[in-house]
Amino acid sequence: KKMSPPQVFADLNPQQREAVEHGRTSEGSQGPLLVIAGAGSGKTKTLAARVVRLVMDGADPNRILLLTFSRRAAGEMEQRVGRALHQALGYSATQAPPRFAWAGTFHGVGARLLREYAERIGLARNFTILDRADAEDLMGMQRQALGLAEKADRFPLKASCLAIYSRVINSEARLDTVLQQFYPWCFGCLAELKQLFRAYAEAKQQQQVLDYDDLLLYWMHMMSDPALAAELGARFDHVLIDEYQDTNRLQAAILKGLKPRGENLTVVGDDAQAIYSFRAAEVRNILDFPAQFDPPARIVALEQNYRSTQPILEASNAVIALAKHRHEKRLWSDKPSSEKPRLIVLQDESAQASWVADEVLKRREEGLKLMQQAVLFRTAAHSAPLELELTRRNIPFRKYGGLKFLESTHVKDVLGMLRWAQNPRGRLAAFRVSQLLPGFGPASARRLLDAMDEQAADAWAALRDFKPPPAAAADWALLRELMLSLAAQSEWPADLERVIDWYQPHLERLYEDQAPVRLADLEQLARIAQAYGERERFLTELTLDPPNASSDESGVPSLDEDYLILSTIHSSKGQEWNAVYLLNAVDGCIPSDMATGQTEEIEEERRLLYVAMTRAKQHLAIVAPQRYYVRQQRRDGDVHVYATLTRFIPGKVARLFEQVGAAPRAPLAQAAPVVPTVDVGAKVRSLWD
Ligand code: ATP
Ligand code: MG
Repeated sequence: KKMSPPQVFADLNPQQREAVEHGRTSEGSQGPLLVIAGAGSGKTKTLAARVVRLVMDGADPNRILLLTFSRRAAGEMEQRVGRALHQALGYSATQAPPRFAWAGTFHGVGARLLREYAERIGLARNFTILDRADAEDLMGMQRQALGLAEKADRFPLKASCLAIYSRVINSEARLDTVLQQFYPWCFGCLAELKQLFRAYAEAKQQQQVLDYDDLLLYWMHMMSDPALAAELGARFDHVLIDEYQDTNRLQAAILKGLKPRGENLTVVGDDAQAIYSFRAAEVRNILDFPAQFDPPARIVALEQNYRSTQPILEASNAVIALAKHRHEKRLWSDKPSSEKPRLIVLQDESAQASWVADEVLKRREEGLKLMQQAVLFRTAAHSAPLELELTRRNIPFRKYGGLKFLESTHVKDVLGMLRWAQNPRGRLAAFRVSQLLPGFGPASARRLLDAMDEQAADAWAALRDFKPPPAAAADWALLRELMLSLAAQSEWPADLERVIDWYQPHLERLYEDQAPVRLADLEQLARIAQAYGERERFLTELTLDPPNASSDESGVPSLDEDYLILSTIHSSKGQEWNAVYLLNAVDGCIPSDMATGQTEEIEEERRLLYVAMTRAKQHLAIVAPQRYYVRQQRRDGDVHVYATLTRFIPGKVARLFEQVGAAPRAPLAQAAPVVPTVDVGAKVRSLWD
């Protein structure tokens, strides 16, 4: 095959090229590499080009471990690399580009490795994975079984228990340290929490269910066996990781286990974009990366931003320049523009929604597709008024981050059936499903679970022999036959259709009027299911990285359809759009009122704003509604007050924006606003300083 240098190499700048070529020379320098650089400087592009170069030099795509922040990011990377290779290697158009079997998230790759090595580490191959809500429920069951809720007063709720547990695991820290540092008000429950966590871990082990953290924990456990670690390390000739600033201690330890000397290890990231410390991510991982190795990692810094116009970059830099600690970076852009980013102050949330909708349509008129525009917000709930407005105006959208539909009871019921069929020992699924039958209460469910536990070797035999309450006998027989058949053999996606058929009468009985809407959700689930080759894979991937919800009731928009992106800032990581609108840029949203005022948390919120702003290529609008109530903590209790513009855009930063205020929409508004309303086009800086 002829090789021609692909386009991806053509426009690399010298630093990017250095990163792409690292380790290629005959000196045998295949040591670790760190690319640390600001937003939009081409880190992800460089990583992709490096993979292309490695494959062109003979690396086997199936022996490259490529870790990204989401499955979507992995898919995009794979496509980008695939296209470049296609072009470089002169494949014919009909030939499929090479597949990268090991491109994905840490958790996704972990799940696959564990499935493969399960038996060697004392895990059943058919383990199932609990999503966050299921894990909380399991925690809640243990909490109740141990009587902790009554024992200590103000014992943390199940969600907090899981959060504490998760932090201990991911930061590889001791429980007492974590409590002292992050949950001082729970310190009195140290002994009980220990007991609870032991019970929770035992329950998971016994039922062969894994929570998210276990995917990393068991992976790490494999790495602690030197023979297994060597075997795993040898499977991957190259390991490359994007967004390294958001990895946690456990993930760093896994990498170190895979590549102890950092050989052929490339990590890429930006400490100024670290936004996952609430999940125990450690920005120190990236800062300490080079010195972990001997000889230390090579460091490449990139300084040109290719994404944003100069005025957008200048405003973003001004925001992050106020951060407390950071690795100094200079970032410049050679994309001049006369358009400054805009700071828009509006009356209230509904004015905000309608302004954004207007603006989006205006841009579309100008030729910018909806897909080239995105609306970002701090938490998933912030987009609700906008979603209504978009729906009212028939503007299609897709929302990233936080999928409500998978959390609804009817979808969970159906998934519960499939999980139970997959793993008979998973008590949560069995408990949920059996009680769908009328006349089958919690006591019967517990009797069933115990019977299945007793016959652990052949749990399904217990199902066959089980005597249901007489009132439920007929329904039980149907359920039993279906479960036995699904357990005996899986046919995908037919399994799901059979479950939905079985479930439909229960759905109608349980939800009456609402049944048709809920059935439509299940049909959407069935459509999603078609994309997966087998049941186990569907369950795993749906749990780890759910596909996105869509505005379209009839399902996921087809590929050629145009739609606006709505995304939490967290889920917008690594992406870029021509036009970006940021909602609710007020104190109480950014920084969130959940950030308790600890410096560390406030700094993370500042980085979030930086991440949001740096997603924009040409147009950036930051919107702040004036009449927006936020909670404020006072000595005599919380009060609700009107929000003010985010503290991260003080006067001297605001001057880098074009500042626009708007006329009140309802001239007869009665409530006296704390912040006076202003005329169209008025400069509002003085009001906000
Ligand atoms: P983030 O920190 O947000 O993840 P990043 O550093 O990963 O950003 P990329 O997404 O790789 O940056 O690149 C940003 C944009 O700049 C992309 O559109 C990319 O194609 C473009 N770009 C990067 N390097 C170059 C270059 N040398 N020449 C032209 N365009 C470039
Ligand atoms: Mg990137």
